[in-house]
Formats: sequence, structure tokens, C-alpha cells
Amino acid sequence: MEQYQELFLVLQLVKVAYGLKFLEAFSTEVLKPAEAGILSRARTPTINFVLGGPGVGKGTQCTRIAETYGFTHLSVGDLLRNEISSTSEYGDMILETITKGKIVSSEVTVKLLKKAIETSEADRFLVDGFPRTEENRVAYEQIIGIEPEVVLFFDCDEEEMMKRVLHRNQGRVDDNIDTTIERLKVFEAYTLPVIRYYTEKGKLYKINAIGTEDEIFERVRPIFST
Ligand code: UDP
Ligand code: MG
Repeated sequence: MEQYQELFLVLQLVKVAYGLKFLEAFSTEVLKPAEAGILSRARTPTINFVLGGPGVGKGTQCTRIAETYGFTHLSVGDLLRNEISSTSEYGDMILETITKGKIVSSEVTVKLLKKAIETSEADRFLVDGFPRTEENRVAYEQIIGIEPEVVLFFDCDEEEMMKRVLHRNQGRVDDNIDTTIERLKVFEAYTLPVIRYYTEKGKLYKINAIGTEDEIFERVRPIFST
């Protein structure tokens, strides 16, 4: 319980920081970024983020990267979808948010991600589809606090993303035209700033996501082969 109170407090601070000016908020005493995070794990794992618009193939490539280079693949979209089918108190809210193509609050997402990392014994994670907003990113920094080593960005034009989403037939509530238009808008307005942030930090690897699965994977390899 105490742990959740702490989490809640940190999130409130992140929200306050967001309402105020970003840099100012970081210069205060209270809002120091968590240095090693507050994970209940003996060893701090390596984290990589994998970003890209809807249907770009993040999941497909993550599976290949994970198999080839020994990562544990954590799709944050899957973590959220699992909550819908469980008895979680957040299930209805998550379903509604995903159906609209909007972003689930960091409070819920970061909590799920933290739990997934803490309950795994893996040392290296590919976190797929997160952080989707600057607010997600800051909440992650405050609550988990492990600086990502690499941020992959699968890049592809919107028309192609729309085609892929509409052809994948995975029975997802959000794989329809209207929701995907919204997801593309959300991607552009909220996720591109995160991508810019990591570009400036020198952590971003942009990959051309047009081509066959094999061709795209060949472009990813050099990043992890060194
Ligand atoms: N989602 C979210 N926060 C996240 C990850 C996913 O709110 O950090 C929600 C959001 O509504 C998104 C949906 O889950 O549109 C599906 O995400 P996923 O990454 O599975 O979709 P993809 O981009 O791979 O098509
Ligand atoms: Mg996915």
C-alpha cells in the first residue's frame, strides 16, 4: 500500500510539473529524477524503447530482436490489453481509451510496466510502444528511472501504416479506419516529441520500416551486433 502511495505522490508531482513550466519543475528540490529508480530488484536491468506509429511493425521486429539478441519483449499495448480481460479495476477505462485511440494515463501504464519488470528475472528488455507521450516519459523517469540504452524508431509513411493496420486481422478493437486516424494523429502530436527528445540525447536509431520483414530486420541488426 505504502508503495502505491509513493507512486501516486510522484505522479501527482509529474502532473503538477506538467502544468507548470517543465524546466522550472526539474530545478525544484522535490522533483529530482529517480537516479536508480525504485524498482524492487537486486540488479538494474537494461531497457531499450521501441517506438513507431500504429501498424508499423514494432511487435513483429521486437519478436525477432528478442529471439536473436536475447531480450525480453514487453509490449505495453499487450500489458494494457491483458488488463481488459482480467478483473482489473482499470479494465473498462483501458478498453474505452484503446477503442478511441487515445492514451491511457501514465498512472496506470507505468504501474503495469513497473510490475512487469519487477516480476521478471530478465536482465534486458525491449519495451514496445512506450513512452507515447512526453508525460509518459517523465512519469517513467520518475517512477522507474532506468535510462534507456537505445531507442528504436520504425519510420514509415501514414498511408502504409493505415494499410498494414487494416490488413492485419488480429481482431483488435482499434484496427479500424476511424480509430487509426486518431492513433496517427496522437502519434504525430504526442509521440514525435518523444522521438525528438531522444534524438537530441543521441539515443535514437531511426529505421526505415518500408520493406519486407527480413529487409527491415537487416537494418536493425547492426545496432545490436556490436
Ligand atoms: N497504449 C497506451 N499507452 C501505451 C501503449 C499503448 O495508451 O504506452 C494504448 C493506446 O490506446 C494505443 C493502444 O494501446 O493506441 C495500442 O497500442 P499498441 O502499441 O499495442 O499498438 P500499435 O502501435 O502496436 O498498433
Ligand atoms: Mg504493437
